[in-house]
Amino acid sequence: MKYLSTRGGMKPQAFCDILLEGLAPDGGLTMPEFLPKVSADTLESWRGLSYATLATEVLGYFITDISKGDLNKLTRAAYTKDIFSTEDIVPLKPLSRDLTLLGLSEGPTLAFKDMAMQFLGQVFEYVLGKRRTSITILGATSGDTGSAAEYALRGKRGVSVYMLSPYGRMSDFQRAQMYTLQDENIHNLAIRGVFDECQDIVKALSSDLEFKAAHRVGAVNSINWARIAAQVVYYFWGWLRSTRKAGEVVSFAVPSGNFGNILSGHIAREMGLPIRKLVLATNENNVLEEFFRTGVYRPRSAEQTHATSSPSMDISRASNFERFVYDLVGRDPARVRELWQQLADKGEFDLSALRSSFEQRYGFVSGVSTHADRLQTIRDVHRDSGVLIDPHTADGVKVAAAHVEPGIPMLVLETALPAKFGATIEEAIGESAPIPAKLQGLADLPQRVEVMDCDAQLVREYIQSHSATA
Ligand SMILES: *Cc1c(COP(=O)(O)O)cnc(C)c1O
Repeated sequence: MKYLSTRGGMKPQAFCDILLEGLAPDGGLTMPEFLPKVSADTLESWRGLSYATLATEVLGYFITDISKGDLNKLTRAAYTKDIFSTEDIVPLKPLSRDLTLLGLSEGPTLAFKDMAMQFLGQVFEYVLGKRRTSITILGATSGDTGSAAEYALRGKRGVSVYMLSPYGRMSDFQRAQMYTLQDENIHNLAIRGVFDECQDIVKALSSDLEFKAAHRVGAVNSINWARIAAQVVYYFWGWLRSTRKAGEVVSFAVPSGNFGNILSGHIAREMGLPIRKLVLATNENNVLEEFFRTGVYRPRSAEQTHATSSPSMDISRASNFERFVYDLVGRDPARVRELWQQLADKGEFDLSALRSSFEQRYGFVSGVSTHADRLQTIRDVHRDSGVLIDPHTADGVKVAAAHVEPGIPMLVLETALPAKFGATIEEAIGESAPIPAKLQGLADLPQRVEVMDCDAQLVREYIQSHSATA
C-alpha cells in the first residue's frame, strides 16, 4: 500500500515513510492510494479474534512494509489487559434495546485517543529502532491529547517528548495525570500563558528548519495517518460484537471535533463493513453538523468558537475533514486544491450540489447537542440504565437517539469516561463520578514539571540542554 496527498503533490510513499510526518509536503493530507475491500467471508472469519489479532488483520491492509509477524507483536504490545483494564480492550455496554456504548475509554487516560496512541507508541519505537534514529516529539496540549501521547510514548527508546501546557489552566485531574509521569523521556513544560501561546511556541520552533532538523522534531497530532488507521479497527470490532451473521447492518454515532474518529468509520464503511449510518454529533460548535445539513463548509474564528462542557469537541476547523472531501469529490486532487483555495479566499466552500450523496452514498447524518441536552442525557441515561456517561458521549447519545431505526443496533462511541469531567457530572446528577481504581491516589503522587515563562527561546534552550547526545 502506498500513500498519496489529497492535493496531488507527493510521490507515492510507504507507510513507514509517512509515519513520522505531519502534513504532506504540498500542504495536503496523506491518504492510501485506494481503500481496500474486505469480503463478507473474510469478515466472518474474524468473529473469534481477540482485539489485538483483529487489529493485525485490519492494519495489515494499510501497513504492508512491516511484516505480519512484527505487526502482530506491535498490536499485542499495544492492546493488553494491563493497559486497558479489560480482556476485551473495547467492551460493549448496552444502554437500552437499541443503544449500546462502544467502550473506547478504558485506556490509561480514560479517553478514546489512547486507542490509537498506544499503537502509535509501539510502531514509532519499532520504526525508529529499525532506522537507528531518534525523534523529538514537540506538542502543546490543553489536556487530553498531550496526556494520551505521553502515556503512549513513556519509556519508548528513541523518543523524547516535550509537552507544553498552560500553567494553572488545567484541571487538577489533568495535571495529576500528566505531571506524575516520572519517565526520563517525558518532559512537561508548564508555560506561563494560555494554550494558544503554547501552540505558537510549538509552531515557532517547528518552523525553524535548522532546529527542526537538528533535533528531528516531529508531532503526533490528529492528522497522523497511523492514528486514523488504528481507529478503523474498533468499527470492525463493534460490528463483529453486535451482529451474528453476514450482511447485518449496524449504525455508529460519533461525538466529533476534528473529524478524526468518524473519518475512521468512513474508511471502515468504504472497506465494505456493513455500516448503515454514520451519525455525526457536534456540540454548540456545529461546523460539521452544518456541512452535513447544508453542504456548506464554513470554519469559525477562534472568537466564534464557544467554550463548552464537552471541551474536546470545541473546534473551529476540522483538521481531518479534507480526507473525507477528497473521497467525496471522487479523489480529484485538483478539485481539493480549488476548494481549499476558496476556503483561504472566502472562508468557506459550497458542496451543496453533492448533498444528496452525503447520506445515500456515504451514510452520513448529523445533529447538534447543547449544554442543556448534555445534562439531560447524562441524567436520563443514568436513571434508565444506571450507566454514567461523560459529556462528550452524552452528545453522541443525544444525537443518536434521533436516528435510531427499529432492529438496527446503534453503537455510540464512548469517547471519554465521566471521571474526567467531574464538574459537569455533578451539575447533571448532583453527585461526583467514580474515579477508576487505577487512578485513585494519583493526586498524592509527586509531580515532575518545569514551569517556564512564555518565551520560545527558553523552550528551545531547554530542549537543547536536555536532548540526548545520540
Ligand atoms: C478528541 C475527542 C473528541 C473528538 O474526536 P475527533 O477525532 O477530533 O472528532 C471527542 N471526545 C473526546 C472525549 C475527545 O477526546
